[in-house]
Amino acid sequence: MGRLPEVFFFDERKHFDIMGGLEKLFEETGLAGLISRGDRVAVKVHMGELGNTTHIRPQFVAKIVELVKAAGGKPFVTDTTTIYPGERFTASAYLKTAAINGFTRQGLKAPIIIADGEKGYDGKSFPVKKRIRGCRLRKVEVASALLEADAVLIVSHGKGHLMTGFGGAIKHLAMGCTTKRSKTSQHATHGLVLNASKCTRCFECVKACPYSALEETVKGPPKRIVSKCAYCLTCLFNCPVNAYKIEKGGKTKFQVALAHAAVAVAEALPKGKTGYMNFLQDITLRCDCAAAGPPIVENIGLLASVDPVALDKASLDLIDKAKIITGRVEAKPPDVLGKLNRTNSLNHVEVASKLGLGSLKYRLAEVEIEEAEVEEE
Ligand code: SF4
Ligand code: SF4
Repeated sequence: MGRLPEVFFFDERKHFDIMGGLEKLFEETGLAGLISRGDRVAVKVHMGELGNTTHIRPQFVAKIVELVKAAGGKPFVTDTTTIYPGERFTASAYLKTAAINGFTRQGLKAPIIIADGEKGYDGKSFPVKKRIRGCRLRKVEVASALLEADAVLIVSHGKGHLMTGFGGAIKHLAMGCTTKRSKTSQHATHGLVLNASKCTRCFECVKACPYSALEETVKGPPKRIVSKCAYCLTCLFNCPVNAYKIEKGGKTKFQVALAHAAVAVAEALPKGKTGYMNFLQDITLRCDCAAAGPPIVENIGLLASVDPVALDKASLDLIDKAKIITGRVEAKPPDVLGKLNRTNSLNHVEVASKLGLGSLKYRLAEVEIEEAEVEEE
């Protein structure tokens, strides 16, 4: 067997100086070595939905910008628009939300570029070359600005996710780096079903659908025009009687598609010049696309690797060993985030590994920093 990929880990539970730990992690992982003088470096980060308070803090992103500059790179901070109609649906709305959440050009000392353009459709198509587990995804559309970068840092918040259990680097590649069209093709795999017997014909879902994919009917429930549907689930969240559901087994199918998309995106990013960081802080049940609730486990620290699968697997293993701080009785390891989100987080990590994105086995290398203590003689 070849050498195991290294995942570098700064355990913030043992230290005070998290910024110092981030700097050391950046050096020891070799992230600086991925950057050549003059490279345009995309720092890909989710800047949080309006009302979300548990996204990665902008101070950490500003520090990464500083470290990229010190390595000779020209950084820009970037993310993509959403398929659901929140406050990041367009690039201009996203920039306003980012500013409210503390991400500004002045504060970060780098431009912020929404990678898939104003409406979220600017991208280039790449094939999904290998398919397993019945996946039907044939292509992904990578957001344009990411393709213009010479080096990319995928900086992810490790937290829970309704569909994937855990969301880290793999989820960030697949969903965070693609256009609206590509997000839709992945979400289509979990399906959407309407229980007509529950429907009261209030047509709230018709009013809420941002893609005009639902029509009122003379009799019976609303009609969905599948070719217009973006699988944004706005109808599901707006139905007062929970008449909408995703298909049985939909979460697993979605994770399989997501893993395939992640592989295709990673292949499109600069070869040998893409690095990954996971921030295991504010590890909430839900993702940064909404108010995500209180943390489920204690803050753990920062991880980095050039292998996104090893990074996510190491994150899941550390979460399994972390102290649980929620009162929910069903919150028990292993895979506490998967259990609470009623899925198995490992599904997408294992499929990504089988497709060759990275290794489930890794070597954890702990990064230490010196901190002065005030001691009595
Ligand atoms: S919101 Fe729910 S109950 Fe109202 S029309 Fe739509 S499916 Fe029926
Ligand atoms: S029908 Fe539902 S899932 Fe489809 S686009 Fe409209 S709101 Fe989104």
